[in-house]
Amino acid sequence: MEEKDISQAVISRLPRYFRYLGELRDEGIQRISSRELSELMHVTASQIRQDFNNFGGFGQQGYGYNVEYLYDEIGKILGLDSSHSMIIIGAGNLGQALVNYMNFRNRGFYFTAAFDINPAIIGQKIGDVPILSMDELPEYIRIHETDIAVLTVPKQEAKEIAKTLVGGRIRAIWNFAHIDLPVPPEIQVENVHLSDSLMKLSYNIRRAGNKE
Ligand code: NAD
Repeated sequence: MEEKDISQAVISRLPRYFRYLGELRDEGIQRISSRELSELMHVTASQIRQDFNNFGGFGQQGYGYNVEYLYDEIGKILGLDSSHSMIIIGAGNLGQALVNYMNFRNRGFYFTAAFDINPAIIGQKIGDVPILSMDELPEYIRIHETDIAVLTVPKQEAKEIAKTLVGGRIRAIWNFAHIDLPVPPEIQVENVHLSDSLMKLSYNIRRAGNKE
């Protein structure tokens, strides 16, 4: 399938389609039209058709889309038909919460190890995931091909750690530290800012308040 020049805006909408289609599939619904999907998801039917046309349209024939097929195809586009190994760097509050979040594993994202500098937690486990010393990181990522390194360290530590990661067999960084990372383009980086989402919510509260 040709996947050139698909905008990040389209890509960022795919997980939401995937989630809704998964729920429809679980409810035993076999077909859905773009109009029904649009009412369910509160997006326009033309937006859905435009988004899907980037991937060949997913063969809407007769009455709507085949839910199972669409779910599988979007899953494949998102790379969810194969599993992803992950390590966490910084096994503090956020790091431990992410490792403990079982839904990632259900989607095929599994943690193999955590790394930290705190001697009080090195040698312990988060569930079945061992917490290793940062000294072990370079060797670990040299030996173990790892899809995603999750960075949950203080931001002043993140750049140095990113340099170490570049030397290993890492394909992507999921970066929770609020700082841009100096990595080559072949390493994919996704920056997460939960506070951006919270600020958006704050804006909407203020706006709703002004309307009264
Ligand atoms: P925390 O203090 O509980 O955990 C940080 C962990 O990193 C600790 O275990 C610490 O020992 C470890 N650490 C420190 N320096 C290290 C190094 N050089 N190498 C390896 N490990 C190191 O903090 P937290 O609440 O879990 O937050 C972690 C980071 O995530 C912070 O930078 C915070 O700002 C950020 N954060 C981001 C978001 C977001 O939306 N992006 C949300 C919450 C927190």
